[in-house]
Amino acid sequence: MGVHQRGWMSAVTRFKQSVRLSREGVQGTSTIASLRLGHTTLSAHLHRLCLSCDPFCPWFRTIPEAMEHFLLQCPHLLSQHTALRSRLSALPITILNMLTLLAASGIHPSWQLAVLRLNSAFLRKTSQLLRL
Ligand SMILES: [Zn+2]
Repeated sequence: MGVHQRGWMSAVTRFKQSVRLSREGVQGTSTIASLRLGHTTLSAHLHRLCLSCDPFCPWFRTIPEAMEHFLLQCPHLLSQHTALRSRLSALPITILNMLTLLAASGIHPSWQLAVLRLNSAFLRKTSQLLRL
């Protein structure tokens, strides 16, 4: 098998993997797309749009529920954050921030699908997918 053929095969494999995403996986992926664009229904964003009476996290009523708080910091989601960090540590990702988590920057293209899947799994495990 030549180099080009192998490259094509891995592209086909990646495509098949992406098609195999469950309905929840698709929902997670579309939520990530919204998060990338900054379109969320997290309290801080809704409050900015005057659609929520306060900007605070539902569990910590003094901390604004910004995207970074939800994805990286909320103590209520500590076990889900820890699981995500541990799975991401198996990948060659040295910096974990919003941009890397949303696979928007600083991640080699060959790892982006894996990061999106892990983040999608994280979002499902938070049980907040329907709220986002
Ligand atoms: Zn919180």
